[in-house]
This record gives sequence, C-alpha cells and structure tokens, in this order.
Amino acid sequence: MFEVIFLGTSASAPSIHRGLSASVVLHQEHRFLIDCGEGTQRQLLQSGLGFKRLNKILLTHGHLDHILGLGGLVSTFSRWEAINRIEIYGGQLTLERVRDLLLKVVLRGDKLPLKIEFISLKAGPIFEDNTFQLSAFPVTHRGADCYGFLFQEKSRHPFLNDQAEALGVPIGPERRRLVAGEEIVLADGRLIRPADVLGPEIPGAKLVVVGDAGRTDDLVEVVHHADALIIEATYLSGDAEMARSFSHLTAAQAAQLARQAGVKRLYLTHLSRRYRDQDVLNEARAIFPNTVVVRDFDRIKVVKEK
Ligand SMILES: [Zn+2]
Ligand SMILES: [Zn+2]
Repeated sequence: MFEVIFLGTSASAPSIHRGLSASVVLHQEHRFLIDCGEGTQRQLLQSGLGFKRLNKILLTHGHLDHILGLGGLVSTFSRWEAINRIEIYGGQLTLERVRDLLLKVVLRGDKLPLKIEFISLKAGPIFEDNTFQLSAFPVTHRGADCYGFLFQEKSRHPFLNDQAEALGVPIGPERRRLVAGEEIVLADGRLIRPADVLGPEIPGAKLVVVGDAGRTDDLVEVVHHADALIIEATYLSGDAEMARSFSHLTAAQAAQLARQAGVKRLYLTHLSRRYRDQDVLNEARAIFPNTVVVRDFDRIKVVKEK
C-alpha cells in the first residue's frame, strides 16, 4: 500500500485554496517528497507530516512552480539537526537550476551543516527494498529532462499462521527463512517447504505520478493498469490550443490516457485558477468516471485493485 498526501495542487501561481506543486508519497518507513513549490514548508507543517525523515526529494522538472520551495526548506533543514543529509533527484537541467538556487542564493558559500546529494535521473530504477521499487521515466514537457515516477509494490505470498501452527513450525528464525523462500528441517526431521506455509501470490499496488506533461501517447505503457495515476490537468478542452502551446494537458487528455491505459483511479492536480473544480471534474468524468480532482491536504491510499 502507498499513501499520498497532496500539499500543493495549483498550476503556476498559488490561489487562496491551493498551494504550488508538492506531494508526499509514504510507504512503510519511507517518505518521498515529489516537487517542492513555494510554500511547501508550511503545507508540510499544516498537513501534520512535519519534516521528519523527509530526506528524499524527487523533482519532476525544473520550472519554478515545482522547485522554489526548496530554498526555504533547505534553509530550515540547515538549522535543524534532525536531518543531516538530503538526496535531491532530478534531470540534469533541473539539478543545475536547483544547485544555483541552493548553493548560490540560499547558502552562498556558507559551510553546509547538512549534506546535499544531487542525483541525476535517467529512466530506470532509483530505489528498491524487498517490498517495492521506485523508478523514473521520461515525460514530455517544455524543456528537456522531465521525469515521472513509478512506485511498484512487489507481489508477496502471505504467511499462513494456522498452517504453520498445524505443521508445528516454531515461531522465530524458521518462519523467517520460510518467508524468504528457504526450506527448513524441523527438529523431528520433517522437511517444510515455503509452499507449505505461504498462501497464493498477492500482487502489489502500482502508483504512477506524472508532473507537467505536454502529451500522453508516450505515457500509455508506463501507466498501464496503474491502481492510481496522479497527473496534471491544467486546461479544459475549450483551451486545448493554449494547452498545446504551453505543453500542458487538458482534463480530457488526462482522462483519455487513464481510459486507454486501463487505470483504476485517476487523480487530477496542477489546476489553473481560471476554471472551477467542478468543470474540470465533469470534463474528465465524461471520459473516465473514476476521477477525483484533488485539493491541498487530501490523503489517498493506493492499494491493488481487483
Ligand atoms: Zn507546473
Ligand atoms: Zn512545468
């Protein structure tokens, strides 16, 4: 299961009700901040998340509405001893701009009390443990070097306690070895195989997060059968020409992608102040009914859907 907390859902400039792009994906002890628009610090506090363990920052691209909040956030972190190292992931051009912002403007040669690692993205896995994998994929938007993020939970076989009990498998390392796929021999000489105590495979949840995007045909494959797709919807179809010229999507385009790729739920963000939420929702739902237009501080859970 993944959990997502939306911190900023406005496009380009904040509105009274919406901050600039930022969201946090949580999975077990991991936290990933995706984009960090101006005002993200305060949104983090207001959401109740705070700054704890917030040391992995993923950037979709280098436009100011997605990165300016890093200045304030890093300034706070540099005086806050609980975080002594952060990793910032982004495309080459994004990182150049962020490096200038942080090193030339915010820190200006001050000795760093925290270590900042700039990690250049390319398509492929970024992070993995035994429960999930996070990878980056290219997205087409104004300027090169834009990325989206795929969170894929690994499938697992549940441990059947009753079965293990009936077979007399003691609690402790023996059970851990069975879960890890090893056979064990009990004290009385009986061989127990993993299949004796593990249930049928449960597939993992798939979450895809796309920032700003100017087209969708190159996203169909990566988005395929996602349990949740989070993507921008900056324009309505009536302004499709403008959407095209600024390399953004209409709500209808986002919904068509969700339908074409067999997505389970669609979450639209990066909303322009020029529209009413309801109009964005109506346009998308006419094509893909399972659509939500998210607001700041919305929390969603992403689980494997049948
Ligand atoms: Zn943007
Ligand atoms: Zn942009």
